[in-house]
Amino acid sequence: ATQPYDDQNIFAKILRGEIPATRLYEDAYAIAFPDIAPQAPTHILVIPKGAYVSWDDLSARGSDAEIAGFVRAVGKVARDAGLVAPGYRLLANTGLDSHQEVPHLHVHIFAGRPLGPLLA
Ligand code: 5GP
Repeated sequence: ATQPYDDQNIFAKILRGEIPATRLYEDAYAIAFPDIAPQAPTHILVIPKGAYVSWDDLSARGSDAEIAGFVRAVGKVARDAGLVAPGYRLLANTGLDSHQEVPHLHVHIFAGRPLGPLLA
């Protein structure tokens, strides 16, 4: 089972505006902002507005509208940033082995250089 949602996590604070982040995108379901410690020339995080711990949590508990809205938001952020032609990588960590650090679902978008093999 997924852990309970902790509304003091750092991305919850960003959603509430208690911690600053540059909103690259916002709609009813999601916001996007640059990762504070980028691991590629482009490193963007997309998070749902709903209180979901992880990919597992959203996929299990989210409404169809929230799930569709989030998936569309991730695609739109990448498209609007011009990443489709050069290419980009999505990554979402879930659970202990994945090394998820912030317990609010986030999809990483990596781009801006040849990324090499997965997990390299
Ligand atoms: P995870 O390891 O949980 O998949 O990724 C968490 C990501 O959040 C890391 O890449 C980290 O750099 C980023 N991060 C942590 N705290 C903040 C913050 O306060 N602001 C922003 N923009 N990114 C953060």
